[in-house]
Amino acid sequence: MPAVQLGFAEQPEDGPLSFSIGDFPDKIGGRPFWLNPRHAAKAEDVTCGVCEKTMALLLQFYTPEDEPEAYHRVLYLFCCRNGACHRTRWKGCFKAFRSQLPEFNPYYNPSEGEALCAVKARLCQLCGLDGSKQCARCKNAPYCSRDHQILDWTQGPHKEICAASASGASATPTRKTPTVLFPEFELVSEEEQGHATSAANDEGSDHEDEEEPAGSALTPELEKIKIDEADAHEDIEETEVDVDKAFLRFQKRILKEPEQVVRYARVSYADGPHPEPLWVSDNGKMAQSDAPPCPHCSGPRVFEFQVMPQLLNVLEINHYTADALDWGTVAVYSCIANCQPSDGRAYMEEFVWRQMFSEHGMGDSAKAALARDAALKKVTAETSTAVENSTSAEESSVKNDAPTSGGSSPSAA
Ligand SMILES: [Zn+2]
Ligand SMILES: [Zn+2]
Ligand SMILES: [Zn+2]
Ligand SMILES: [Zn+2]
Repeated sequence: MPAVQLGFAEQPEDGPLSFSIGDFPDKIGGRPFWLNPRHAAKAEDVTCGVCEKTMALLLQFYTPEDEPEAYHRVLYLFCCRNGACHRTRWKGCFKAFRSQLPEFNPYYNPSEGEALCAVKARLCQLCGLDGSKQCARCKNAPYCSRDHQILDWTQGPHKEICAASASGASATPTRKTPTVLFPEFELVSEEEQGHATSAANDEGSDHEDEEEPAGSALTPELEKIKIDEADAHEDIEETEVDVDKAFLRFQKRILKEPEQVVRYARVSYADGPHPEPLWVSDNGKMAQSDAPPCPHCSGPRVFEFQVMPQLLNVLEINHYTADALDWGTVAVYSCIANCQPSDGRAYMEEFVWRQMFSEHGMGDSAKAALARDAALKKVTAETSTAVENSTSAEESSVKNDAPTSGGSSPSAA
């Protein structure tokens, strides 16, 4: 099984991101880059099922496959920016779409990767979705929805621009375009180390513990979690103490790369085995077999990627506000066959599953952020202690397990 690709958020180096078919960036937020230049997704496709407002692009991947129908392939994940909607009914708050083109298509030259046709969809000037609606007065401002038109009129610059264009003058609007998008970052990938054969995280994969790279700076912390995990297992069996084994495994795995915002693990061949997401809790998991089949070809959908809680920090979501956006992880499952329905549609909807850290689902990301910070501080402290002790470390590795301040061990009591 191939290694998991970890995605990290980076500020674009040369200003706002751009794209061509030869250089199609994976990204977070901002306006969507449409693989199919003639057909942008419509606001109706990405309307929040709770507040009925237009969702924003959370991230998109360019993931070409070795199949004629999916020579070019992009996956889009949208979500409502209002955390209150997610608390009310999260299933109405996400939409994932697959878009693909064969090698020979009307839009891109196969050898050069250049645009063959200049025809482009009109795009909403606020959000970049299909902009087939427009300002009735100037007929010069495309929008995806009445919602965004009103927003641009009442809070944005369009009222001033529209008035100026009616009188033939050029406008210097005083108001800025309202923010309806997530901030934009480039998504840069890197292979996860130390888990080359163990992308699965099902209950039977405990032996992955034996694949830890030796000599990592995080080893003392990881060893400790490993011990906790073993203890926890006994506790569960003997006293049914409430310990979340999946959470411990999750913490341990992401500690090595705590800045990861995405885990990508698609296996495109049908006979698998297919990876599972790295679940954040024992509660609210979904079995691969429970992912509903593709509505177009009736074939199975398999896990493709998951969004990590660290993305909330990158997007500067304030965990402590009541309506903060929140998740433990968001997993996307896609049609294994990369089917292209005969109606020629440009967007095939895929399946999204959200999991929280705890059953009640409150303050989850805050809890995780705190746990993560605590764990990182601990690792830093242990690493610096290890450095201080490095002269004697060779004589006795046992010393590294002693309490950092040299006092008597609390566990001896
Ligand atoms: Zn909403
Ligand atoms: Zn719009
Ligand atoms: Zn206008
Ligand atoms: Zn399908």
